[in-house]
Amino acid sequence: MESVLNQSIHEKLPRRIARLEELAFNLWWSWHRSARDLFKMVDRTLWTTTRHNPVKILLGVPPEYLQDLARDPAFLRQYDAVLMEMDRDLRNGHLWYSHAYPDLVDEKIVYLSAEFGVHTSLPIYSGGLGVLSGDHNKEASDLGLPFIGVGFLYEQGYFRQQLDHSGWQQANYPQLDLDEVALRPKLCADESCINVSVAVGDRQIHLKVWEVLVGRARLYLMDSNVEQNAPWDRELTARLYGGDREMRLQQEILLGIGGVQIIRALGLRPGVWHLNEGHSAFMVLERLREYVHEGFSWDEAVTHVRAGTVFTTHTPVPAGHDAFPFNLMEKYFYGFWSQLGINRDAFMALGSYDSGYGSAFNMTALALRLAGRSNGVSALHGEVSREMWQGLWPDVKPADRPIGHVTNGVHLPSWTGEAMHRLYRQRISPDWMERQDDPTLWTRIEEVPDEVLWDAHTYLKRKLFSAMRERARQARIAQSTLPDQLLASGIFLDPDALVIGFARRFATYKRANLIFRDIERLKRLVHHRYRPVQFVFAGKAHPADDPGKRLLQEVYGWACNPEMGGRIAFVEDYDMHIARYLVQGVDIWLNTPRKPNDASGTSGMKAAFNGVLNLSILDGWWAEAYNGRNGWAILAENDTYGNEWEQDEADADALYRLLEDEVIPLYYQRDRGGIPHGWVEMMKESIRVVGPLFSTRRMVKAYTEDYYVPAIRDIIALEGKAE
Ligand SMILES: *Cc1c(COP(=O)(O)O)cnc(C)c1O
Repeated sequence: MESVLNQSIHEKLPRRIARLEELAFNLWWSWHRSARDLFKMVDRTLWTTTRHNPVKILLGVPPEYLQDLARDPAFLRQYDAVLMEMDRDLRNGHLWYSHAYPDLVDEKIVYLSAEFGVHTSLPIYSGGLGVLSGDHNKEASDLGLPFIGVGFLYEQGYFRQQLDHSGWQQANYPQLDLDEVALRPKLCADESCINVSVAVGDRQIHLKVWEVLVGRARLYLMDSNVEQNAPWDRELTARLYGGDREMRLQQEILLGIGGVQIIRALGLRPGVWHLNEGHSAFMVLERLREYVHEGFSWDEAVTHVRAGTVFTTHTPVPAGHDAFPFNLMEKYFYGFWSQLGINRDAFMALGSYDSGYGSAFNMTALALRLAGRSNGVSALHGEVSREMWQGLWPDVKPADRPIGHVTNGVHLPSWTGEAMHRLYRQRISPDWMERQDDPTLWTRIEEVPDEVLWDAHTYLKRKLFSAMRERARQARIAQSTLPDQLLASGIFLDPDALVIGFARRFATYKRANLIFRDIERLKRLVHHRYRPVQFVFAGKAHPADDPGKRLLQEVYGWACNPEMGGRIAFVEDYDMHIARYLVQGVDIWLNTPRKPNDASGTSGMKAAFNGVLNLSILDGWWAEAYNGRNGWAILAENDTYGNEWEQDEADADALYRLLEDEVIPLYYQRDRGGIPHGWVEMMKESIRVVGPLFSTRRMVKAYTEDYYVPAIRDIIALEGKAE
């Protein structure tokens, strides 16, 4: 079979290596070491300058190179091996899901999300939520779930961050060149043709659908940038979290209602629909409409929709849940309730909720009412959510309210650095990846010689340092870096000294500035003659969040301040690419949210898999993972919830004390060969505990066993098997 994914790549590839095109167009390559190495072999410089984008590499590489590669035995050996591995993986009929549920392999699982972070080359994510969706997709592929993601193709994505000389965040929105991304049009071959058209108020919005191959899983992305739409409607899917509330409502109509229509246009009747966060909750309305249209009564329709819907909520911050005023809802849904056979009040009641700012149509409330199964993303967050949504079940005891939890995880093959990969393969087991959720496997880390683990870590640390230097060099060429800004670039950091990483969204509750609360105390730490401490910061503030931007400016100001002597770095434009270097290359991963605002957090898990130790408030996932020997918990002597100033003061003091009394002494306690045995001991304990539990392997299995399969069985009981 010869399918053309990109004409110009297709034409230039010699026959012998023609399947490089297919490989570049399935993001499977992104989490398989051998495939990454293969593209590196095609052109190492392009591998770096394209930030690991095989489509761009194949477009950019001179045809003569490809002719040479097609005759190069070493390249051909690697090429054949990679394709064999991919074919075996993608055609394997014996993965976990098909073993566990052979009768359900044709029941599709649809997952709707406003963002997907599969790879940096497809910038349709902003942060944790998107990276989680991407990891979920990849793990679903690895486990063999019949999985389909649905989201947006944002042609301008989330913004690229640049800081001006005063440290104020500038947002740039470069246009994505669709020819340089691993996408292809779906449903009809002609790129200009329309697949689905969705009523948004009194307009019809036409959508084009793109397909992304994520191993065996599929991701369908909708795009309103087509000629048939009015200019302003073509912008609807351009940016992630851009625009005002009304635009957001329109986007969510596309995601929820358009999402269902796309699945129908693909001819699918899924067994379960998973709403990842409330953005996509209008999906339930569209499915109610379908059932009513098919002749079901309202109550039956509700029963069916609930049976087949799973909902995951992601934030314990009330303002983080989308809610729309009723008059705005009326403008866009006038006419919809009659199609459901209900009146306006009954319709509004589906989403009506007052979370302290007056009653509105709340997307989380809608989802919680119409999903038969709902969950939070850590044990603590499950508890907070049951408390928070008490208004939905006023007569039910908190413990009995129907919100469970599945703690988040991360996709190991995507986030484990090369050196750790090698170490796990050699020292844990050659098939560690297949058995990653087996706790007995990870106990073998205890037998790894200290210097071997320390060497692997040191290697990854040096890679981070050279990445920072290269970025500093590029920035110096591209823009006018001031001397003080060079201090913040990381080029003056000492690779032999302790490095603490902090990278996350600059929301004020995450308190990136906690360590700056007592400057003199901090200076004593960073300027210590024998045992200095250094920091690397990264993160974006939401473009509409001015307090967040001021926080960022404050941190950046300290990084540029000569008084800190270049020991504090700020890496601009945090994304998945830079995240990999950071979570693999620092010594400590710092997390300082105001408890209990962090629903789960996943970057600390990525760090742990790479032997980086967590130093964190006991919030989210860390409250489950911390055991006293695998990292540190920042615990104030007396918890002072309710008074932010006091809480911050107490937490900062606890943080300084931990650094002064425990973290720094342990790091610098070395034997003659320079190995910090006590520290390495802790790294091992961290890997042992986190390894089997905080991966998407464990997470997707839990979703499957406790949510998807019960939902599919309920739907089968109601409707019979899908054809
Ligand atoms: C993993 C990741 C996140 C999520 O990290 P948190 O722990 O939730 O802060 C955010 N952004 C990027 C780019 C990531 O890779």
